[in-house]
Amino acid sequence: MSLDNAKTPFPILLAEEIDGTYRAWCPNCGLYHFHSAEDGHRAAHCSGGLFGESGYWLLNKEKVAMDGLPEVRTWEDHVKNWKDKAKKK
Ligand SMILES: [Zn+2]
Repeated sequence: MSLDNAKTPFPILLAEEIDGTYRAWCPNCGLYHFHSAEDGHRAAHCSGGLFGESGYWLLNKEKVAMDGLPEVRTWEDHVKNWKDKAKKK
């Protein structure tokens, strides 16, 4: 299956910060995945499935509980963000 990245927003996973690590429940795997504690796009730790191709976007659960869900990022946002970061290096 191929995703149309220009139109498909990333799936959002809400993450809990535990000892400087994000722990996010993955509905694709039925497991927790662990990542560095920063909001943003991640390559999925899934063994295949939908997320395996698209990755996912981690958001801090507590922040979302206080501020609500931000606008969903699109693939273009992700690419732009990545290019901006690359420029700064
Ligand atoms: Zn997974």
